[in-house]
Amino acid sequence: MTDPDFIRRTLEDLKARDLYRHLVAVGSAAGPRVQVGGRTVLQFASNNYLGLAGDPRVRQALCRAVEKWGWGAGASPLLAGHTDAHAALEADLAAFKHTEAAVVFSTGYMTNLGAISALVGRGDTVVMDRENHASLYDAVRLSGARLERYKHADAVAAEACLNPKSEIRNPKLRMLLATDTVFSMGGDLAPLAALADACRRSGAMLLVDEAHATGLLGPTGAGLAEQVFRAPDAPFLEPAAGAAGGSPVASVGTLSKALGGIGGFVAASRGTCDLIVNRARPFIYSTALPAAACEAAREALRISREEPERRRRVLDLADRLRAALRNKGFDTGQSATPIIPIVMGEPEAALAMAAALLARGIFCPAIRPPTVAPGTSRLRVSLTADHTEEDVDRLVAALVAARG
Ligand code: PMP
Repeated sequence: MTDPDFIRRTLEDLKARDLYRHLVAVGSAAGPRVQVGGRTVLQFASNNYLGLAGDPRVRQALCRAVEKWGWGAGASPLLAGHTDAHAALEADLAAFKHTEAAVVFSTGYMTNLGAISALVGRGDTVVMDRENHASLYDAVRLSGARLERYKHADAVAAEACLNPKSEIRNPKLRMLLATDTVFSMGGDLAPLAALADACRRSGAMLLVDEAHATGLLGPTGAGLAEQVFRAPDAPFLEPAAGAAGGSPVASVGTLSKALGGIGGFVAASRGTCDLIVNRARPFIYSTALPAAACEAAREALRISREEPERRRRVLDLADRLRAALRNKGFDTGQSATPIIPIVMGEPEAALAMAAALLARGIFCPAIRPPTVAPGTSRLRVSLTADHTEEDVDRLVAALVAARG
């Protein structure tokens, strides 16, 4: 029988373990300064890395597109929801990612669910980094494939999962290695070249989740794969018929972080994208992204490509912050991006630090299990191109003061 008291008891248990979460309503547009609880605070909690969420040109593109297309797509993509705006955005994204094609989803979360469940199914195996994003884990569940996890950012451990000694592989079964390229809670990088080599040797497919790298890393901002595989010089995401695997078969990105809006996409070969359109349940059974959001994303993508100084700026600010924090004895892990963790340990310590910062006018919420592993609760600082050197210095001073 269902315990009628389970909701209250579950919530009390979360509170007792400092793991209870609640929503904080922000009262102004995304930016380095936002309204929280009626006051203006300096925030380090958004993924708006290039400052495009509120860019006036993107706002105008959105408004113009709303006049043309209205508010909603009205249907799922395979019915009437896929518009010229979606097709144009997909063409722009494919060109940006050096692939033949792209498919746009309503969110990045759904993109991972759709891409993985289209590529593997029951009996197949997905090999994943322990610190991959929750959406990749949920994607494996949806696919019904078997999950193997390897030690964080360890390509040797990954290869051991790809080639289990005790098992004779059934050649009919597929194997996919999936990894974040920039880890969302640590800001560190996957050992992508070594992972791709391991996939090549074992004939596994490779899916990269570039959610936090898109717009930031690589010669044109296309992501870590662009940096590592030197596209467009090297063939990228083009698994020839019968190829042994190795280079990514699918690159997942979001429109919701550096590009400042909402939505996700897979960039891949035409065939892989056609398979996703035919098989990805989160794509097939959900209403398409509004066309106006596609037009705004195209404008944000254009700006991100034409103004590389934005990504240089946020990467420079991140260097400055990391150096200052290390100098003051804070543990920032292996961060190499504008995501900078300050690992505190227990949830209580992270909550106390977040509260002490808020008391000093700085909004940077605590991240606790299950989002991160037990014992690694942290503040997750994220920077944007709109932050200033003074903002960064103020954060460091506040952290030092709060630490006591
Ligand atoms: N992948 C990674 C690595 C992420 O960090 C996130 C978002 N936190 C997603 C996918 C999901 O993207 P979205 O927020 O657009 O659904």
